[in-house]
Amino acid sequence: MIVEIISVGTEILLGNIVNTNAAYLAEKCAGIGLSCYYHDVVGDNEERLTGVLKTALARADVLLLSGGLGPTQDDLTKETAAGVLGRKLYLHEPAKEALTAFFKKRGMEITDNNWKQAMVPEGSIVVENPNGTAPGIIIEDNGKHIILMPGPPNELVPMFEDSVMPYLNSLQPGIIYSQTVKICGIGESKAEAMVEDLINAQDNPTIATYAKTGEVHLRVTARADDEKEAKKLIKPYIKELKGRFGNHIYTTQEEVTLEKAVVDLLLANHLTVSTVESCTGGMLAARLINVPGVSDVFKTGYITYSNKSKRKILGVKKSTLEKHGAVSEGVAKEMVKGAALFTKADVAVAVTGIAGPDGGSEEKPVGLVYIACNVCGRIDIKECRFSGNRMKVRESSVSAALSLMRESILAYYSEVTFGAKKS
Ligand code: ATP
Ligand code: MG
Repeated sequence: MIVEIISVGTEILLGNIVNTNAAYLAEKCAGIGLSCYYHDVVGDNEERLTGVLKTALARADVLLLSGGLGPTQDDLTKETAAGVLGRKLYLHEPAKEALTAFFKKRGMEITDNNWKQAMVPEGSIVVENPNGTAPGIIIEDNGKHIILMPGPPNELVPMFEDSVMPYLNSLQPGIIYSQTVKICGIGESKAEAMVEDLINAQDNPTIATYAKTGEVHLRVTARADDEKEAKKLIKPYIKELKGRFGNHIYTTQEEVTLEKAVVDLLLANHLTVSTVESCTGGMLAARLINVPGVSDVFKTGYITYSNKSKRKILGVKKSTLEKHGAVSEGVAKEMVKGAALFTKADVAVAVTGIAGPDGGSEEKPVGLVYIACNVCGRIDIKECRFSGNRMKVRESSVSAALSLMRESILAYYSEVTFGAKKS
């Protein structure tokens, strides 16, 4: 089934509010196996909303609308939808009672325009709204399903979870089952391009990509009579994704985070770890220490923010700092060498970069970060160029460091195993 998400409100159109409802609804719909091809944003304008509704009715089975169900003149979603479908509005007694009770409970006076919210199109299903005054409305018309929900997220989200999602599920046979493949070390656009053909040809299961900081998650969702059947449908897709993404897949389990995957790898290989951080200021250590059981592997975490501390604690050479600057490949390398030497950890990771907003230059812009990983003397260094504000650069650096740790440990063992590394 195809769903179209229609967000109504001039505030969204003008950029005064962020359209979080659309993102939320889209993710939920993908999760229950509905295909979404279009999102529309339209202002509180009858003529233009009529046009959007007609277009959406011609190309989707389910229309999910949010916003414009309030009591004021500019709230016209319900009236417009009823007009397009040729239905009259009538006063819905239970909705009127719910409205009265809502106001009474809060000791508020009902104003005349509030009764507008208890008017519903003929032949519609009225959906309770325990968190607000506008009920949701479902209209079934010629095999199409038009669903109207209030704009405020604290009303829309519970209404969707409690009433609309079960309704949408009831329209489709069987159950929904999904599995997530989590990928690191590959950018979002590249990952998307690598599965474009699968997404374009998708039917059942469906595949959706979700970009996270430094990671991409691919969710494969199947609809089937029971879980066993759904798993059978999903299996060849997971196999295909494993073939395409190989070692970049760090888990296919929902509850495993990137830091947990890294800690598990350290534990499995009996490797201890130390972190030395500049611009991330301990965030990398904190992510690792999020994982229960890390105490068996985590040795030391230093924040060597100043040049002096890089020299004193890690033994970074003054000449390297002067020649190349603190944000350089050379310094990152000396940081992980020093960290391994002084903390006696098998794995040492260093992050040094320019988080901004100041401190950048043409040669070394804000967002330039060097990450080094030393696995038993085998050193990998990665130059990254991140965008975004200070926090975003720091978060991206941490994710990239975790990714590099995985890659370096795996590379170390593959070289050891295949005899390429002897030093
Ligand atoms: P109300 O009864 O509050 O008027 P409504 O159903 O008429 O509710 P709108 O008037 O369109 O909804 O929006 C009310 C508020 O809900 C907005 O000011 C905004 O805070 C929030 N909102 C509306 N649409 C969205 C959206 N798409 N994403 C996130 N928030 C939204
Ligand atoms: Mg409103």
